[in-house]
Amino acid sequence: MENQNTVLESLLDTQELLNGYSHEEIGDDHLYTGIDTPMKPNAFALSDDEKKESIAQLFAKIMDVMGLDLNDDSLRGTPKRVAKMFIDEIYSGLNPANKPKVALFENKYHYNQMLVEKDITFYSNCEHHFVPIIGKAHVAYISSGKVIGLSKLNRMVQYYAKRPQVQERLTNQIGIELQTILETPDVAVIIDAKHLCVSSRGIQDDTSATVTSFYGGAFNTPEKIQELYNYINN
Ligand SMILES: [Zn+2]
Repeated sequence: MENQNTVLESLLDTQELLNGYSHEEIGDDHLYTGIDTPMKPNAFALSDDEKKESIAQLFAKIMDVMGLDLNDDSLRGTPKRVAKMFIDEIYSGLNPANKPKVALFENKYHYNQMLVEKDITFYSNCEHHFVPIIGKAHVAYISSGKVIGLSKLNRMVQYYAKRPQVQERLTNQIGIELQTILETPDVAVIIDAKHLCVSSRGIQDDTSATVTSFYGGAFNTPEKIQELYNYINN
């Protein structure tokens, strides 16, 4: 633990530049560093219960440093509640063991147009500020001969949303996952979301939203994109 603390401290201290800018200069301009969620090689060395215990202690420390009185009846249970919520709920998608199991079925209906599952409400959290991202995802695919249950499209969005995220990565992770599962490049994902780090703090813009898209295979034409938007806006 001693050793790990030293490593963490030196990471927090680092003055290393990113593309020539310091972390402070980058400020609220969110960086997207890659398709995979950056995880340590030993990310799952601790069990979920061990993680909850450790997070509860650390969160109690944060509250204590902020001057909150943990003897207060209302606050006393907060560190454990937060720890449980992190591991079992809002960051449960970090653990591959929680990935939805998906069964593929033959496309017996021979439906060969795009299938659009729209307005999937999700709650995620920004990995730069740990405050909510709230939005809607629209996912679409054209069957290559295989289909999946509609609820699985929804569940896959929720799985990737339940991580510290940046919207570009969330969009691409869902798109690539569905391409893999459905064994086809013909997948599209559009995400329209509000970031509380933009509305409730920082620049405090309450009206802007961020839209990102992933167009694979047959979706990469203006006609297909228009058709998809017609379904979504219908
Ligand atoms: Zn943020």
